[in-house]
Amino acid sequence: MLLGVIADDMTGATDVALMLNRAGMRTVQVIGAPRQGATLPDADAVVVALKSRTNPVAEAVADSLAACEALLAAGARQILFKYCSTFDSTAQGNIGPVADALMQRLSAETAIVCPAFPANGRSIYQGYLFVGAVPLHESSMKDHPLTPMRDSNLMRLMGAQTKAAVGHVDYATVLAGAEAVKARYARLAGEGVRYVVTDALTNDDLMVLGASVAGHRLLTGGSGIAMGLPQNFRADGLLGERAAPASLSAPSGRAGILSGSCSAATRGQIAAATAAGYPALKLDPLALASGAQTPGALVDWALAQPAQAPFLLYSSDDPAEVGAIQQKLGRDRAGEVVEHAFAEIARRLVAGGVTRLLVAGGETSGAVVQGLGVKTLAIGPEIDPGVPWTRVVDGPELVVALKSGNFGAPDFFVKAWRLLD
Ligand code: ADP
Repeated sequence: MLLGVIADDMTGATDVALMLNRAGMRTVQVIGAPRQGATLPDADAVVVALKSRTNPVAEAVADSLAACEALLAAGARQILFKYCSTFDSTAQGNIGPVADALMQRLSAETAIVCPAFPANGRSIYQGYLFVGAVPLHESSMKDHPLTPMRDSNLMRLMGAQTKAAVGHVDYATVLAGAEAVKARYARLAGEGVRYVVTDALTNDDLMVLGASVAGHRLLTGGSGIAMGLPQNFRADGLLGERAAPASLSAPSGRAGILSGSCSAATRGQIAAATAAGYPALKLDPLALASGAQTPGALVDWALAQPAQAPFLLYSSDDPAEVGAIQQKLGRDRAGEVVEHAFAEIARRLVAGGVTRLLVAGGETSGAVVQGLGVKTLAIGPEIDPGVPWTRVVDGPELVVALKSGNFGAPDFFVKAWRLLD
């Protein structure tokens, strides 16, 4: 392994994994902090997906260190701590404390702080983070329920979360190229600075910054910074040229869609799939709760459908219906009943010969991978922005795509299969 990535949430992990995959690194995603002594799969880059963004600080630090240990044991030469491109955190962390712990573990001298992601409108100028045309604290992030961002100055934001000194590489220096940036790092290190916020407005800037951190043990930032890292490994002769995969070879077997997402995007995708003639059956949370509907019966129905078209099992409903069900079952219980059902359905489908699964919904995806006991996914081609096909590395012969509710074009469920051979 060349690069180890510790991501503070699941979609962020997929994001950075896709970025590395596109840049020609064979990338594997591991879900959750690896157990002590766990062996990671062989790949150019391994991304560990944690849920450490809003955990208690001590837990976030412990999970991140466990991930770091496993990545180092597997040979990682460089560690990227990946957080959101809007620097989602509170004054207590968790970005600062996790970075501090990693810095100490890796004996790193300097680590950059670079959440810039120009393709998504996240840029950094004079150390201020912008979301599109407005500074972070004027964006919708100012009202985020868990991590409201009320400042845009990354030196202050990071400075509030760490005792280490935070410095800045300005845009003129970035424009002057990687050598100039490296000289600035050296000067700042001499002044006792440990974290360096780096300006970046374009992908070209990220390539310059990528080149400037060759040899750094630790980097921190968003997915964007990953763009400029493969070039360093290539320059050292450690990584060959490789195009991003255009398709994924999937085991022969049946295909199905499981959808527990109630988002508008997913409901539109379900409508498109049924219009395309996919056989579809709806889960009824009340009947599941009472035992009148069972995962076994739903799976029997699915496997009895003609195999030419993927089948669709969904609980997705409009807000009024979901509200009525939550009223009757309680919000948590409603979610649990449905997630439980999908986990059991997935297990039975795989046992029944399903080898290709699309799953819609963040929580639903979590329940399904947990139900299948899957922890390691090799990243394949991207179906729509942010959603790749993946191949299960440590479990059943299965390819799976995990889609967050709002992701994907209206024809997502129909077109995804074309990328499988
Ligand atoms: P998204 O990514 O769109 O937010 P999630 O899977 O994360 O989707 O969340 C959807 C939640 O709603 C899950 O907890 C799921 O179990 C629950 N759910 C799904 N269908 C229904 C339904 N018909 N009634 C009540 N809750 C539902």
